[in-house]
Amino acid sequence: MEVRNVVIIVVDALRARNLGCYGYSKNTSPNIDSLAREGVLFEQAYCCSNCTDPSLTAMLSGKYPISSGIVNHGARVTEEEIQEFHGKRIALLSEMLQSRGFSTLAVDWLGRWHGRGYTCYCAPWDGGTRGFLWRTARRLSRVRLRMLQQLSGLVVPGWWGRELGKFPDADARKVCDRAVELISASGGRRFLLLVHFWDTHSRYNPPRRFAEAMKVGCGQGRSQRFDEILGQIGDPKWRDYIRYCVKGAADVDDVIARYDGAIAYVDHEIGRLVDALRQNGLLEKTLIVLTSDHGESLADHGIYFTHHGLYEETIHVPLILSHAGLPGNRRVRGLVQHIDIVPTVLDLLKVEAESALDGESLLPLISGKVEGFRSAVYVEEFHTERKRTIRAGSYKYIHALSPEGAVCRYCRRVHGDMEELYDLRQDPLETTNIIAAKPEVASELRERLSEWAMHLQKKSARGSVEGRIRELKSMGRV
Ligand SMILES: [Zn+2]
Repeated sequence: MEVRNVVIIVVDALRARNLGCYGYSKNTSPNIDSLAREGVLFEQAYCCSNCTDPSLTAMLSGKYPISSGIVNHGARVTEEEIQEFHGKRIALLSEMLQSRGFSTLAVDWLGRWHGRGYTCYCAPWDGGTRGFLWRTARRLSRVRLRMLQQLSGLVVPGWWGRELGKFPDADARKVCDRAVELISASGGRRFLLLVHFWDTHSRYNPPRRFAEAMKVGCGQGRSQRFDEILGQIGDPKWRDYIRYCVKGAADVDDVIARYDGAIAYVDHEIGRLVDALRQNGLLEKTLIVLTSDHGESLADHGIYFTHHGLYEETIHVPLILSHAGLPGNRRVRGLVQHIDIVPTVLDLLKVEAESALDGESLLPLISGKVEGFRSAVYVEEFHTERKRTIRAGSYKYIHALSPEGAVCRYCRRVHGDMEELYDLRQDPLETTNIIAAKPEVASELRERLSEWAMHLQKKSARGSVEGRIRELKSMGRV
């Protein structure tokens, strides 16, 4: 099997359960479903963190957030975290492949450490007037937000306006156009292409026809009232943001229709991306990896239109691998995690990893040699709450690291309890905390979770010292 190129498609905040190939009742994802039919779908794939920055870093480095050092998200990622990450010399997939002669391309705007190792790392709006203003505004960080609002034509007041200002115009069509340009210009050179779609991130605002098509039974006023929802949100800024997200919607079902419409819109563009690979004669030799950085809570567990909390809707992500040489229509049951993507891609490219990874290649699962190799998956939340979870067998245990860590920074209340246990086989929507009824299961999972964290922290500290020694050696100081 020859894998010449790799395309990694990340659909931000896309939860697995709203895709047709993961059993959703609405037809949100015909093109993604077709990729799944032609390839391998992992039924139980999990992200490593419920926020973009640490999650994407784990996905593209093969290291858990505790190992890599990037645990926070957005403006809360400290300089120390970034320095630690650089200091550990953890290579991103882009760096590993760039050093092997690949053209490394990305359509994404996150920048900072995410941009390491790319020949071309471009935002979808690069090139135009708005792109120029965006770049200028980013350089002038003090005034960048005001500039973004005043100069880029985004007339959006307040805190959520600033949030929106972070990804103006990252529209799926533009993202896809840019990706198609890069594919067409690859000129026979092997490439890695990362394509990051944003439309499924709140505020869900796809072209009208996509949202309209998903409005089945909406606007009947059956679902929760918005004033009730807004009353549950403690932070006034966050309340403003949610108010902005639900603007013009009749009820929660209506917002869900917009989210589903956003999936359908991105799916349509993914279809165009796959067509571009086909038309350029590259599809046969290109591995496509489709996933999301985390899921989304739409109205589940009292968490509205965002991705905090460690419940399934937020951490169970789609993962599909497609390539002419892989088995078609294969569904893998075993537990897998984002950290397994880099080892799998390297395995398929027959490239050695440069350093130890936390993940493992998924090829034995794909070939059916083994049913699964992970007895558990582990996910962390540092941005909004401070929580960790372990999923093992049908059980899932979630705990807050401290009483303060249990309080949601946005909603200013505690979602769930300090400790929660669910039996996902009996209760897939995690509605009944059975911790009091199953103390022995909780105790075992509590211990495993704590061992996992301690093991990685120790390993990570070692890695850091070694990294520092290497660094000093390279500077001739040791
Ligand atoms: Zn909350």
